[in-house]
Amino acid sequence: MSSLTSLPDYEKFVEIQQNVYRARFSLKLYGSTYPTSIFLVHIPTTKDCILVDGGDPDNVTKITNAISSHFESFPEYKLKYVVLTHGHFDHTGVLLKLLNDYKDIKIVMGENEIPFVVHGKKYSEITGDTLTYQLLKHFFAEGKAIGNEDRVIAIKEGREDEFEFHNDLRPIFTVGHTPGSLSYLHVPTNIILIGDLVFNFPLIQIPIFSAKNNISIPITSFSVSESKNSIKKVVEMESEVNFVFPAHDLYQNGISIEEFKQHAQKL
Ligand SMILES: [Zn+2]
Repeated sequence: MSSLTSLPDYEKFVEIQQNVYRARFSLKLYGSTYPTSIFLVHIPTTKDCILVDGGDPDNVTKITNAISSHFESFPEYKLKYVVLTHGHFDHTGVLLKLLNDYKDIKIVMGENEIPFVVHGKKYSEITGDTLTYQLLKHFFAEGKAIGNEDRVIAIKEGREDEFEFHNDLRPIFTVGHTPGSLSYLHVPTNIILIGDLVFNFPLIQIPIFSAKNNISIPITSFSVSESKNSIKKVVEMESEVNFVFPAHDLYQNGISIEEFKQHAQKL
């Protein structure tokens, strides 16, 4: 395992699977730093591009620079959507800037994230089943609300195939971390981007969450039991999934589905 700043995709997009690029940034929180991934997915047939998640507010300049330099390398591609795994502040930092810079893009999210991401409801208002979060939630920053729904597309459960590019990047409801959390299955390469369903880095920094391996137990602002159900749901997709990529991941190739399955069995 390498340190965050020496990762090949530190602050720049690097292809991790065909047509899937990842950049990782350093999220500073309470004296420690945590890896935070954002992904760019190319749709080769239409030359559209989808950004998965929007990083944290402290890294907005670095993120927009990474996106701009990616499109300098791939001038034929055009950003069309930002799709969110969920609306926590460390996944939505760059949204307002991108909405301003790219006048045609739309933001895609699970229907139940809309009150938080668009209308400014606070995740800390949720009374979930998570004691840890009930204790910690007041220390977490809230994201800045988008303010109106004009440039937002809500994904509804059972109607995931209404997303234009669902044949390439299929939204999968994996609620639990938040009420409307989505994962995204990249159909051509059999990888799934799971947001914060689990983390994948040594959690010795946060002893109360530490697990035997580097995959965390569910850490949620909504429902641990729903998170566990969603982890099972990903395991049940094993015929379609080779690798699982969490948003907070210090490793190069994510988590193999076998390793993810073993972790799920221990929960
Ligand atoms: Zn996060």
